[in-house]
Amino acid sequence: TAELKRTQQATMHLLEDVKRDKETIDKLYQDMKGIDKMKTEFMSVISHELRTPLTPILGYTQFFKDEKFGRLAPEYKESAAVIEREGKHLLSLIDSILDVSRLERGGEITLEKEPVFINVLVNELLEVMRPEIETRQIEVKAELPADLPALQVDPVKIRRLLANLLGNALKFTPRGGKLDVSGALVGGNIEIRVSDNGVGLAKENLDKIFEKFSQIDGSSTRAAGGLGLGLAFAREIVEAHGGQIRAESPGLGLGSTFIFTLPVV
Ligand code: ADP
Repeated sequence: TAELKRTQQATMHLLEDVKRDKETIDKLYQDMKGIDKMKTEFMSVISHELRTPLTPILGYTQFFKDEKFGRLAPEYKESAAVIEREGKHLLSLIDSILDVSRLERGGEITLEKEPVFINVLVNELLEVMRPEIETRQIEVKAELPADLPALQVDPVKIRRLLANLLGNALKFTPRGGKLDVSGALVGGNIEIRVSDNGVGLAKENLDKIFEKFSQIDGSSTRAAGGLGLGLAFAREIVEAHGGQIRAESPGLGLGSTFIFTLPVV
């Protein structure tokens, strides 16, 4: 029985230890949650602060570029265009950080809806991307019926969604490749398909790529730039509008198609 008593005591000690450990872990977890919340708030404050001076910088750069202050020699005009382009890139990176902190807070996306013709948006974006399309010698085909009905959507968000998909199609398609955009009215939805004949996707990654920070094949995508957030936001934007988005690919090296729907209301 002395043996039994010793075992009993040892067990009691062990239980006490476990309880203490659990308390320590709980406390650490609470501390970490606090720090994580501070980090999210810090990211949000910093992004707002970075955004503020960037707005007038971009505004004045556009004035220069558009020769509102007088005619410019071509090389100055080109430099202004570079400043504007890179400034916009910086702005979109900052906006991504803002969006991540919003996602982490569990905040809802806010939509400012108005009537939008999606074919107009697609054509505008392809126009903006023309320099890149031409340097990379990508063959672009945009087949959107001119009579697609107007959508009641947030134009800024839908533009961003399209810019992400078109940008990815360019990024993950080698020089000389193909990019097709098509649209159709299917049921009560407008369905847009963005296809490329680039690097393609393995079956097991078709869903995964819509997760935050997910990038397949770190090395090549790092080379292509980006944060792995574009598709996470694409899905958030589509779903906030009551639509759906998915990716299809016959396999690695065989190109990809991104399909999303938006209800016509
Ligand atoms: P990012 O482009 O910044 O890496 P995204 O969220 O837009 O982030 O895309 C996530 C990942 O999905 C990419 O890193 C890439 O691996 C894959 N992907 C996206 N679009 C394509 C595409 N058109 N073809 C092949 N892979 C793609």
